[in-house]
Amino acid sequence: MDNPAPRAYQPPMPQSFDLIVIGAGPGGYVCALRAAQLGLSVACAEKRATLGGTCLNVGCIPSKALLQSSENYAALTHDFAAHGITAGAITLDLARMQARKAEVVGANVKGVEFLFRKNKITWLKGEATIPAPGRVAVAGTEYQTKHIVIATGSESTPLPGVAVDEQRIVSSTGGLELTAIPRHLVVIGGGYIGLELGSVWRRLGAEVTVVEFLDRIVPTMDGEVAQSFQRILARQGMKFRLGTKVTAAATTETGVALTLEPAKGGTPETLEADIVLVAVGRRAVTAGLGLEALGVARDDRGRIVTDAHYATNIPGISALGDVIAGPMLAHKAEDEGVALAERLAGQAGHVNYDVIPGIVYTWPEVAAVGRTEEELKAAGIAYRIGKFPFTANGRARALGDTDGFVKILADAATDRLLGAHIIGPDAGTLIAELATAMEFGASAEDVARICHAHPTLSEAVKEAALAVDGRALHI
Ligand code: FAD
Ligand code: NAD
Repeated sequence: MDNPAPRAYQPPMPQSFDLIVIGAGPGGYVCALRAAQLGLSVACAEKRATLGGTCLNVGCIPSKALLQSSENYAALTHDFAAHGITAGAITLDLARMQARKAEVVGANVKGVEFLFRKNKITWLKGEATIPAPGRVAVAGTEYQTKHIVIATGSESTPLPGVAVDEQRIVSSTGGLELTAIPRHLVVIGGGYIGLELGSVWRRLGAEVTVVEFLDRIVPTMDGEVAQSFQRILARQGMKFRLGTKVTAAATTETGVALTLEPAKGGTPETLEADIVLVAVGRRAVTAGLGLEALGVARDDRGRIVTDAHYATNIPGISALGDVIAGPMLAHKAEDEGVALAERLAGQAGHVNYDVIPGIVYTWPEVAAVGRTEEELKAAGIAYRIGKFPFTANGRARALGDTDGFVKILADAATDRLLGAHIIGPDAGTLIAELATAMEFGASAEDVARICHAHPTLSEAVKEAALAVDGRALHI
């Protein structure tokens, strides 16, 4: 029998998916999960050894673990005596505290791995590049896909003259990993990270100085709330140098000598620290993806430009989360992930950018949704204010947590809620009611007429809503 004619060599077909997501942070992994739920075949490329992105590995979750531990320590050392509870010698085991934080992170990142297996999402391990639309390369293998979603997130913005070594001069990643309590921690940047991590180390005993370029802290938040926040933090022992910039850092035998200058110019001075935390914002991560060759448009801050449905200017490539415009928040990235997956599956996903809460998880917490007073003034919108202090709330008194207030901004003509700002105990949980109300287009009166359980902190929300019309009862 004749031998069959040899067939020409056929290279193996590249594995193919409906969707490849690049980056397994809250934006990317949630997009992958929702797309898989909707029946798409999905892969997700992640270069980190674990899933969950900045948020689960070096962001939201580890910072909240340390905030909780340090809050417990501060309560035991400072607050419990007022309740008639005293303990003997109180010791602090920082290694155990850090180990607990690692356990919390471990449980969360393993949870995402479980969800990937459950939803049959393929984890492509390694750094991804995009050789062409419809193709993604990871660890030397190329894959085909109908759609690519870039969810590569963000990283700390470097500060010229202050080189991060993650030992003496740390980013948030190093600031979460300290193995000894600093004697003097200087935080550059009075934003979310600076105030949360500054609070952690202050509560554990460090002297903390926050150097902020502007003449106020948390610049995106309501000005009145920011002022009150700074006063409360100062009472907790945090020091502030506002309107000041750091122009140089020199490491010494014992720490770092920082050169400080007034933001508007003036005589420089030196400030010594043993640890410096650089927290002046975050920037989009796009290097190495091959965007220049593809011609993917980016804005002046390096963020990928998308339309309202997350499409870039290159067909078949979308982007979401910290790598595009908007607040760099995990829940914003997650909601974009869901909306985009639903669009890719032919549904009508949507995110309401007017109602994205933001929370600083210090104690007291600071929470906001909607517009600030400054924004309403700038937009020329007439508004009414309702405010209620936690000093007048029974539950806050019982807790011993009376710092802060609820502030509600409502349209002067229609009473519709325009913004809500809370500084106080559990503000992050309380803001959810006002976000829900705003999502439903509620008025301040709608909130005021809801029956709120007594005694709860949420009664302060009701009272602030009543106060919009001058009808607060307990003040
Ligand atoms: P990321 O979470 O940054 O994930 C992107 C992922 O993409 C990363 O895992 C990265 O390794 C991967 N990646 C990048 N390039 C490639 C590539 N080429 N190939 C493969 N993988 C790649 N937000 C909140 O809402 N609440 C908080 O309490 C909060 N706390 C924070 C605390 C700290 C200290 C920090 C730093 C941030 C915090 N944030 C918080 C912000 C939050 O972490 C981010 O908004 C969120 O993680 C953004 O999600 P993302 O999916 O867009 O990107
Ligand atoms: P940020 O934007 O919150 O704050 C940065 C601060 O640094 C600002 O107040 C800014 O005026 C100041 N600044 C800028 N340049 C400076 C300079 N040269 N010298 C002194 N001050 C300077 O940024 P961040 O704290 O680095 O956090 C990054 C982002 O991560 C946040 O904006 C937020 O989106 C996210 N995040 C959220 C949470 C949360 O939701 N609880 C927690 C941490 C981080």
